[in-house]
Amino acid sequence: MPEPSARGFQASANIAFLKESATIAVSARAKALKAAGRPVIDLGAGEPDFDTPEFIRRAANDAVEQGATHYTTTEGILPLREAIAADANARCRDGAPVDAKEIVVSNGSKQSLFNACFALFGPGDEVLIPTPSWTSYYEMVALARATAVPVHGDPACGFLVTARELAAAATPRTRGVMLNSPCNPTGSSYDAAALREILALAEARGWWVITDEIYRRISYDGRAASLLELASARDRLVVVDGVAKAYAMTGWRIGWAIAPRALSAAMAAFQSHTTSNAAAVSQHAALAALRDPAQAEASIAAMVAEFRARRDAAVALLAAASGVQFIHPSGAFYLFIRVAPDGASGDAGAAFANALLEQHDVAVVPGSAFLTPSWVRLSYAAPREQVLEGVRRLLAVLAQRRA
Ligand code: PLP
Repeated sequence: MPEPSARGFQASANIAFLKESATIAVSARAKALKAAGRPVIDLGAGEPDFDTPEFIRRAANDAVEQGATHYTTTEGILPLREAIAADANARCRDGAPVDAKEIVVSNGSKQSLFNACFALFGPGDEVLIPTPSWTSYYEMVALARATAVPVHGDPACGFLVTARELAAAATPRTRGVMLNSPCNPTGSSYDAAALREILALAEARGWWVITDEIYRRISYDGRAASLLELASARDRLVVVDGVAKAYAMTGWRIGWAIAPRALSAAMAAFQSHTTSNAAAVSQHAALAALRDPAQAEASIAAMVAEFRARRDAAVALLAAASGVQFIHPSGAFYLFIRVAPDGASGDAGAAFANALLEQHDVAVVPGSAFLTPSWVRLSYAAPREQVLEGVRRLLAVLAQRRA
């Protein structure tokens, strides 16, 4: 936690353990340096550097003019939940199609993930988290007073974790597993066979599976698998998705969870006491995105093509530098790069990221944010030339350190 600024403030036990989000901290420092006139290349941010497509912005303007300025039902407007259900049912293989009642729309998929963790897990429960993983999962599980159990993947396998490794980390207190594919921070994706094995294990052990599919549409080597199309039953499955990444709508804050009816009702009840509904205008914007697949697909395809071109160019630079270990990403928009040997003393990734930012004006996120301190995460959601210049400077610092 940051130093208390208000006189007499002491964080309650509910949040005293929280660490500031490292990705947000890096972004804030990069912005501060930029404001001070430094030509910072910000490769820390986890958001598409594209505008929300015009047809979505226009629909949002129209919605405001037509009165979308009031509270909505907590779980979200019915047409949006129906559109989400229709989109899900185009993939869902379970005999029972997804119903709008199983969907809760929230302020970003981040809130959907938190709602699910808070509703499902509690004191004494353990939750398996393939690691490295998005920094907020660990904190969300801890906020639910459950124990996050990192299960470390092998970098030689893109850090992907197998069902066997999950089983080895489980105890009688294990209640669930949180999956993210394509993954932040590695860009690795699980294939259908690996996901089926994890689903089978979870089914056999009675675990909940929370699958965060926010990067599903940003996939370069074929479609990323969705658990909706693999699960034969959804009675312990929570599928989380949203519009932030695929539709370049991070600021609109719309995400959702698809969960069995009893859980979706509990999450809606919880949300009714915390944030109520997601912003009405944003829900209408998301509805426009989902209702017009022809325009939406064209925007997604153009954005993904540009991300792929950046990935290919950045990977070519990394591959040409001898002895640099990195994960070859198949989705999302991150490169995960080793900057120190395992077991290096202190937080080697943070020291590296700090030097890269303060001395070379390139912002990346230290791997310790994802429980892998010898690595850093570089986002290529930035103009191509900046990404490549950032990679060149990173490689130059790596080479200097090795010399
Ligand atoms: N899940 C992962 C893995 C993410 O990387 C992010 C954002 O960086 C989110 C969820 C949050 O997305 P949203 O903007 O929908 O809350």
